[in-house]
Amino acid sequence: MKRRFAGSVLAERLARGSGKQVLLVDRRAHIGGNAYDHYDNAGILVHQYGPHIFHTNSKDIFDYLSHFTEWRQYQHKVLASVDGQLVPIPINLDTINKLYGLNLTSFQVEEFLASRAEKREHIRTSEDVVISKVGKELYEKFFRGYTRKQWGLDPSELDAQVTARVPTRTNRDDRYFSDTYQAMPKFGFTRMFASILDHPNIKVLLNTDYREVKEMIPYRQIIYTGPVDEFFDYRFGKLPYRCLEFKHETHNVPIFQPVAVVNYPNDCAFTRVTEFKHLTGQEHPKTSIVYEFPQAEGDPYYPIPRAENAEIYKKYQALAEATQGVRFVGRLATYRYYNMDQVVAQALTVFSQIAGLDRSNATDLKYEPGLTPLTISMSLNGNGNGNGHRNGNGHGHKGIRGRRRRGPLIPS
Ligand code: UDP
Repeated sequence: MKRRFAGSVLAERLARGSGKQVLLVDRRAHIGGNAYDHYDNAGILVHQYGPHIFHTNSKDIFDYLSHFTEWRQYQHKVLASVDGQLVPIPINLDTINKLYGLNLTSFQVEEFLASRAEKREHIRTSEDVVISKVGKELYEKFFRGYTRKQWGLDPSELDAQVTARVPTRTNRDDRYFSDTYQAMPKFGFTRMFASILDHPNIKVLLNTDYREVKEMIPYRQIIYTGPVDEFFDYRFGKLPYRCLEFKHETHNVPIFQPVAVVNYPNDCAFTRVTEFKHLTGQEHPKTSIVYEFPQAEGDPYYPIPRAENAEIYKKYQALAEATQGVRFVGRLATYRYYNMDQVVAQALTVFSQIAGLDRSNATDLKYEPGLTPLTISMSLNGNGNGNGHRNGNGHGHKGIRGRRRRGPLIPS
């Protein structure tokens, strides 16, 4: 296994859901991948790799994660710094009124936008998405500069899905997401991951590239969540990923900015500034923030959605599908610009395939805190379980279809 949301969810499902022995290997010094959060030197909970906000429309996914954390209800708000003002993004009624000093109603703002929107026959690129909804001027104020910074490409060079993530509204709704479930893990993401991985069948090996230990450890299957091109030694060339650098700061004031995130579409080298206390609800006399500086090189964060990259990925995908004993899961391994909930869904689908379950039963096994530790110590990756009656969850029988072997655990 390798890092990130996908790896942790699969580790949990394979261990608790079908009694497999799992070794999770990560190059980094911590669990949780990019969603890792921790208390900084000032004692403020910060997200090391930029803001992570959980949101989903899937009750199934929300319920599944709720086994591992309590939640803090949180509606994410973002402002954009445009023409010397902070205005709501997604663009809404208040954005237009504030920006142009108007007092339009919802109906009037709809007309206002319609009069500026430029009809596009086909919505292919990220430029088409925005210009066809709000016209060139607002596109340039809010999207063009931000996107060029974030991706190192013009919106016209990116698939529609990138800017289509951000809606346009004519009402006063100023939430960044409109999903049914929006929340932050009450004690942070790292605590949630620790709980997900808290199972006697799961061992975690940090500060380790899986290739360093691959030959030393017998295993049945690898779940790989790193960049797919790296796995195949860049056989078909490098798949472009966008990278980020972070600058963390603590300020000696209780509040730095009015909302959790402020976007800077047209000025500054960074794209956005996040103030964590808005996300976490923590009270503290100081406050910590992070600036995000997009980069071409470094640790990969985003696949870059555009046709020519999809072409390269297709080759890797075919190779991945033909590679026995390895499953590729997550943003980097499947080259998809997925949100956290989509990654969890993908991981659950892969789990259901491995376990021979219907997808609707993938989260079926109830979580039971306070598990009895295994009496046999064994930390190798999935050998079809074999730990029989002491399977570590005490109720792992549902839907497993005779995969369980009885008797002591035998290294494969
Ligand atoms: N975007 C933009 N201006 C904004 C917000 C978003 O141009 O103020 C574009 C940009 O291309 C960005 C994409 O919309 O990469 C998706 O935004 P989102 O906030 O979902 O990005 P993420 O949080 O995944 O980095």
